[in-house]
Amino acid sequence: MAKLSVKDIDFKGKTVLMRADFNVPQDANLNITDDTRIRATLPTIKYILEHGVEKLVLISHLGRPDGKVVAKYSLKSVAVRLKELLAQDVLFLNDCVGEKIKQEIDAAKEKVVLLENLRFHAEEEANDANFAKQLASLADIFVNDAFGTAHRAHASTEGVTHFLKSAAGFLLEKEIQYLGNAVQNPAKPFMLILGGAKVSDKIGMIENLLPKADAIIVGGGMSYTFLKAQGKQIGNSKLEKDKLDLAKSILEKARGLKKEIVLPVDNLVVDNIDLNAKSEIVGEEIPEGKIGVDIGPKTIKLFEDKLKSAKTIVWNGPLGIFEMDAFSKGTREVAQFVSTLGAVTIIGGGDTAAAIVKFKLESKMTHISTGGGASLEYLEGKLLPGVTALTDK
Ligand code: AMP
Repeated sequence: MAKLSVKDIDFKGKTVLMRADFNVPQDANLNITDDTRIRATLPTIKYILEHGVEKLVLISHLGRPDGKVVAKYSLKSVAVRLKELLAQDVLFLNDCVGEKIKQEIDAAKEKVVLLENLRFHAEEEANDANFAKQLASLADIFVNDAFGTAHRAHASTEGVTHFLKSAAGFLLEKEIQYLGNAVQNPAKPFMLILGGAKVSDKIGMIENLLPKADAIIVGGGMSYTFLKAQGKQIGNSKLEKDKLDLAKSILEKARGLKKEIVLPVDNLVVDNIDLNAKSEIVGEEIPEGKIGVDIGPKTIKLFEDKLKSAKTIVWNGPLGIFEMDAFSKGTREVAQFVSTLGAVTIIGGGDTAAAIVKFKLESKMTHISTGGGASLEYLEGKLLPGVTALTDK
């Protein structure tokens, strides 16, 4: 990577400000229900602590408090969990800027300090220069390990880099390495699996990767807009009417580039999206009144046939409503197949990552992105402000 990494920094005697992504899900009693994001950043935290740092000041956002103090979005429980994971004391402070906070950090006996939610201040998302300067004044060096917010130019991801030497943490570096390689230099054949609810979310990615990919496999809700664009009956399945022309033009473009867009040839359909709904398999034409909720067995076989020669696979979007077990077979079977191929397998964040976790296949994939929006924007070919702002090597 062309940017400074934590490995390039001498941390001895320095106070480090580190942006992490501690945006973890919590239940009604504010217990953390999934600490993956905290654990994902431990390698960077531990590396910094093992390299003679004076103090490590951690900052993050949690939820969308929109510039106000909202108790349920406090990072307090993250401090507790972090203390357990590090087996080391963590001081939690109830704000993230100001003279008092600065003094408390200086006076702290603990090496690790976690500051309160950045987004309790509207200046964070507004990328306010003065707020960024105040954050920067807390430390000597800045480290960004929050890939999940790297696509946002906020005070703690972009603004702060104007005032401090800024390096990438291991998690951010790993994301850029895998996603970057997949986009710029994939081992071929390179195939894309796309699914999920909407075509509109994936257009940028299709446009950026169509010229590079050898095939694009499409399932899930978005496949029905493509099938409809080909003149097929799709019943009551998910349709983005205003994207029909776009779907047609993508299919034409693919034909022009001699790239294959592989669509479902059979579907699991129901009358209502309901746990106990009676389901049946139909062909590529979906009868009136029926809703497509998963790909069918012939499609699973077709997708597997296409994918078996792939050396790089990027997957974004489930192939059915995988959250409901009865409609999860297509996503599960294709995921299991992909995990045995020995190809570089890169899973976009968000729902696709959740599906892979649900099927317990995490350890069998090369890389599961921790940032849904950020990985999508990166795969769309956009520059991520949180990455470009870091100090060049
Ligand atoms: P996305 O965030 O765009 O990747 O969309 C993920 C969501 O798409 C998941 O919640 C899936 O349940 C949903 N999805 C996948 N297939 C279908 C389908 N056939 N109909 C409706 N929603 C779907």
